Amino acid sequence: MKKETDSINTDNSTNSRILLHSCCAPCAAPSSERLIKSGNSVIVFFSNSNIYPHEEYLKRLESVQKLAEHLNIEVIVDSWDHDAWLEAVRGLEDEPEKGARCKACFSFNLQRTKKKTDELGIDRFTTTLTLSPHKVSSVVFESGHAFEGFVEENFKKNDGFRRSLELSKELSLYRQNYCGCEFSMDENRKS
Ligand code: SF4
Repeated sequence: MKKETDSINTDNSTNSRILLHSCCAPCAAPSSERLIKSGNSVIVFFSNSNIYPHEEYLKRLESVQKLAEHLNIEVIVDSWDHDAWLEAVRGLEDEPEKGARCKACFSFNLQRTKKKTDELGIDRFTTTLTLSPHKVSSVVFESGHAFEGFVEENFKKNDGFRRSLELSKELSLYRQNYCGCEFSMDENRKS
């Protein structure tokens, strides 16, 4: 397992492009900001078949597009295949947040991100999933390292979440009140 790093620094090679899997605008904002400041050329990949219902998916996508316009970076949008995602987490529906369902969910999205990096000829990718205090970064890393080119970045570090709150307010980004899937929505309602 690779060691956690404070930030990603490019090696001044000709290819500084990195594909950033992004779950939502509040997480994408400080993550993109940090990567750009470290000299990376960021392309956002919105791949979130886990989000339910579709209207919610569209709200989060719209906010990510608004952010990308502000930062002047490209967004690539994956198809929304919620049925395939449900198949990937079958049998884990009752798992609590941070449990086995979430790990399968990370793997599902990161596998699609890896596929996209290959299609685009990009060598490296990472994810905004480590920013949320509701997600365990080491579990995200475990899922990511199953795929070549995954770069470990803990966006929680250095006040990442506080910066997310600041940027969300400043840019009026949509902030959801549940993680994304129907099971997390139910969990949120019960709590
Ligand atoms: S709670 Fe969030 S991370 Fe966990 S399975 Fe649902 S959408 Fe994925």
